[in-house]
Amino acid sequence: MSLFTKVGKKFEETKQSVIGSKQSTYVCHSCEEAVAEEYEHCPHCGEGPVELANNC
Ligand SMILES: [Zn+2]
Repeated sequence: MSLFTKVGKKFEETKQSVIGSKQSTYVCHSCEEAVAEEYEHCPHCGEGPVELANNC
């Protein structure tokens, strides 16, 4: 169970770095969470799809 907590924390850090970076960022259409890669199904909510987010 503690493993899940650690993974969850790590995931939050990863998400922050993804949002902060200037690399390509994908955003879920369903829950609008940012993800690092293009997924057919969002890892956050299981819905999707995720799409490239261009924050000009
Ligand atoms: Zn989602």
